[in-house]
Amino acid sequence: METFRLKILEKKQITHDTNCFTIEKPEGYQFVPGQATELSLLKEGWENEKRPFTFTNLPENKHLEFIIKSYHDHEGVTKRLDEAQVGDMVEIGDAWGAITYKGEGVFIAGGAGITPFISIFRELRKKNQIGNNSLIFANKTNSDIILFDELKTILGNKFHNIIADQDDTAYDRGLIDKAYLASKISDFKDQHFYLCGPEGFMEAVEKALKELGANPDSLVFEK
Ligand SMILES: Cc1cc2nc3c(=O)[nH]c(=O)nc-3n(C[C@H](O)[C@H](O)[C@H](O)COP(=O)(O)OP(=O)(O)OC[C@H]3O[C@@H](n4cnc5c(N)ncnc54)[C@H](O)[C@@H]3O)c2cc1C
Repeated sequence: METFRLKILEKKQITHDTNCFTIEKPEGYQFVPGQATELSLLKEGWENEKRPFTFTNLPENKHLEFIIKSYHDHEGVTKRLDEAQVGDMVEIGDAWGAITYKGEGVFIAGGAGITPFISIFRELRKKNQIGNNSLIFANKTNSDIILFDELKTILGNKFHNIIADQDDTAYDRGLIDKAYLASKISDFKDQHFYLCGPEGFMEAVEKALKELGANPDSLVFEK
């Protein structure tokens, strides 16, 4: 596998625990919106600690962009990335991944699971093809919602937020379950369902969708 050593050009905090990194792009580097790569931080002792992260920019952009949520409860790569600075170097590999746009449907994301959908939505907006695509975005609190303003601008009233742990949220409250999906989705037969989120989220949403009649072939997720 080819690898590329690239400089961090910009780092912007976009929620309390999430940064947006702009990174050099190798000449001719290609990916499809929704795809990811293995990334490591080139700091002593961390060079071989590769973790998957998803491109959030458009393929034709001059630079690469990653939106990365950091976990501070243990000494992992995301904690190190939160401490990284402009000018630090990272290494990435080729692009890979099963999440790509296959046609109109419902995108269902949990937390940082929104990242593959950001590049897909940005591309659909550029092509003026947002159409009937909709997004259900689950987070713990309002302050965890990544890129709320941009997603609202792109999706308008087809953007649904559900919040698990904040009593005074103005959004829907609770976890995504069968009843919630049934209240937001009228057609389970003839559209795609794009899923991305933590393990427990994926299991619960996949099970609920199947029980509501979604065809297993219509589910798009990273296996
Ligand atoms: C295809 C794909 C694409 C992804 N894209 C993105 C993206 O674009 N943006 C993004 O933010 N994330 C993304 N992720 C998730 C990201 O890869 C992980 O958050 C990252 O690998 C965590 O690395 P880490 O070294 O910080 O944690 P690791 O050490 O690898 O630990 C992984 C998880 O285990 C738990 N854990 C492990 N050890 C401990 C410990 N000692 N104490 C407490 N908890 C612990 C934590 O919950 C942690 O999240 C993606 C994942 C996949 C599979």
